[in-house]
Amino acid sequence: MEIRRLKLSGFKSFVEPTELRIEQGLTGIVGPNGCGKSNLLEAIRWVMGEASARSMRGGGMEDVIFAGTATRPQRDFAEVLLMAGVAPGESIPAIDVGADGELEVVRRIERGAGSAYRANGKDVRAKDVALLFADAATGAHSPALVSQGKIAAVIAARPQERRAMLEEAAGIAGLHVRRKDAEQKLRAAEANLARLDEILADME
Ligand code: ATP
Repeated sequence: MEIRRLKLSGFKSFVEPTELRIEQGLTGIVGPNGCGKSNLLEAIRWVMGEASARSMRGGGMEDVIFAGTATRPQRDFAEVLLMAGVAPGESIPAIDVGADGELEVVRRIERGAGSAYRANGKDVRAKDVALLFADAATGAHSPALVSQGKIAAVIAARPQERRAMLEEAAGIAGLHVRRKDAEQKLRAAEANLARLDEILADME
């Protein structure tokens, strides 16, 4: 998967609709302090399903919505669109990437209404989006997104945390999520079976 385009509207300091084309090769973001470099990286993590407001440097998730300045009123929503190219044969379960191999994911948050996601025009769950990017060996916690302080965090990480980073890079993080889901379903089925045994015993 190759990120090609990013569109932000009302997201943090990007109050006006802003579009960025991400060309092949290495991309660097430069600019003076406070101009929004980290906000851009956060926008990529956010559209990929980031669920932690703290890791977006906010107290609550609505803090990503443009908060207003002395001269501009706050916005009521924030939206980030990420367009990625999917190589032929690359597996993107449950999302139809079409013949052009393009995947467009949009996350939108409205004040008081929470987040909603769309993938290629269809409403999807946060979990589907997180899985989609985890399967593509990227995602909100991907080691490919190196934010400030991340290098120090990798050095100081516990062995389990380092293992999680390697698993994310290897593209198997999604399998852990599916395993957890399957285990939960198994436990629910076992509880149902036990209840059925009780009912049968009562009837005998
Ligand atoms: P540095 O080089 O110092 O790390 P940076 O270029 O990475 O800076 P960011 O941290 O991305 O800059 O952006 C910080 C700016 O974004 C601040 O001016 C802050 O006021 C603004 N900002 C953050 N959240 C919001 C919000 N919800 N509404 C409006 N502005 C916001």
